[in-house]
Amino acid sequence: MSRAQNYINGKWVDGSLGTLDMVNPSYDTKAGEIARSGKEDVDAAVKSARAAFEGEWGKTDAATRGKLLYNAAQLLEKHVDELADLESKDTGKPMKQARTDAKLIARYFEFYAGAADKLHGDSIPFMNGYTVYSQRVPLGVTGHIIPWNYPLQMTGRTLAPALAAGNATVFKPAEDACLAVVRAFELIAEAGFPAGAVNLVTGLGEEAGAALANHPGTDHMAFTGSPEVGKLVMKNSADHIRPVLLELGGKSPQVVFTDADLDAAMPVIVNAIIQNAGQTCSAGSRLVIQKEIHDKVVDELIKRFNNIKVGPADTDPDIGPIINKKQLERVEQFVARAEEEGAAILAQAQKPAGKGYFFPPTLMGRVNNDSFIAQNEVFGPVLTVIPFEDEADAIRIANDVEYGLIAAVWTRNNGRAHRVSNAINAGQVYINGYGAGGGVELPFGGMKKSGFGREKGFEALYDVTAVKTVIVNHG
Ligand code: NAP
Ligand code: MG
Repeated sequence: MSRAQNYINGKWVDGSLGTLDMVNPSYDTKAGEIARSGKEDVDAAVKSARAAFEGEWGKTDAATRGKLLYNAAQLLEKHVDELADLESKDTGKPMKQARTDAKLIARYFEFYAGAADKLHGDSIPFMNGYTVYSQRVPLGVTGHIIPWNYPLQMTGRTLAPALAAGNATVFKPAEDACLAVVRAFELIAEAGFPAGAVNLVTGLGEEAGAALANHPGTDHMAFTGSPEVGKLVMKNSADHIRPVLLELGGKSPQVVFTDADLDAAMPVIVNAIIQNAGQTCSAGSRLVIQKEIHDKVVDELIKRFNNIKVGPADTDPDIGPIINKKQLERVEQFVARAEEEGAAILAQAQKPAGKGYFFPPTLMGRVNNDSFIAQNEVFGPVLTVIPFEDEADAIRIANDVEYGLIAAVWTRNNGRAHRVSNAINAGQVYINGYGAGGGVELPFGGMKKSGFGREKGFEALYDVTAVKTVIVNHG
């Protein structure tokens, strides 16, 4: 079980507003409880982080920070099964996916453990009589708000680099998915960080989330979630003049040319939209396909979509439920509106019986790239098929959305692969593949309205540090 408390200044404490029930979306039953927090709790967490940054944690050298992160990685790795079980009950993720996510939080801590003492500045040639060097210094207190779709992975993705770089952190997960995160914090707490380096405050977005986003005491805000709330976080940060990192989702194209290896592409295309029931910021939601192979590919996809097994997370399905009723209704409305706008449902998997919030994977054809479903993030397992004429048309369609998170190009023509990749506006482009094992090492983030700032890889360390230049005049 995971406790219904916050972790502030090295202690587990109750939330000032009581507790909140957590729901298991596979069965619509209670999965546990979390602390409900507000301004007072967030204020205590930010103050504790500030004291840690100005105290012991701020004086902890890089190699020691790395060791602490590595301790956390090992503790998380040791408890993968328990974390996966909580994550699966809380979010409805099939156990296979939950295990992958539990391993990935450990991997994030491991990667940034190794990076902590390898982040350094430069020596800069300057005028005679001077020696100049730059340092990468932590920003201070970093605030982190994450959504419910990959709670364990995102905890690792946002916290580990901030800690490796020497920041003190205040973390607010989503109200819909906290149980595994709270347990992960117990393990992170055991790793031996000085009090105040890591703080956890759970609760509602409009209470705990808004209190953190509005707090004057942080030096950086990292936010992943909807564009609407991302804008609020950015506006609040403008008031306090501090940097923000925003990851606001995508409408990612998979561009398939006639010369693609379709046997290799087909399972990847299906997985990229059904993984986590389509509730993935980098879901491959637009299949942009050359018209000569359109019918052949669609026939194959229909067979595959009809055979996808949907069910409760603990029954080893291909996909589990949507996170909550509201999101389920949102996905249903998207499909209904697409049909009204002229798109057709080409295939739909079976919806299981029971009280879970299931939406069967759906393939939609006759989709115009200008239509609502092609332009907006569904956040459900709905793949839209959009045909193209030639390379220029493919590039135009791929880029013709407000988002720019990731993309894929499928072709055996090497020159075309690079030309198209160069022309697509996205933070990551895969050539003959899509998504790969969590990609902890690979810089990730948006262009256009997908947001800005980079997480993952070594690049993430630059977002949570500033360059300080030291100019020594020694004559
Ligand atoms: P959301 O409201 O943007 O939630 C993201 C995070 O922000 C959660 O921790 C949320 O807390 C918090 N939050 C909510 N209101 C806040 C406020 N006023 N101030 C500060 N923080 C606040 O997203 P959602 O409602 O869960 O999902 C809606 C849509 O967002 C989805 O359908 C999808 O299109 C998009 N989305 C994108 C991603 C992504 O990975 N880019 C992830 C999730 C959702 P609570 O959850 O406790 O309210
Ligand atoms: Mg839940």
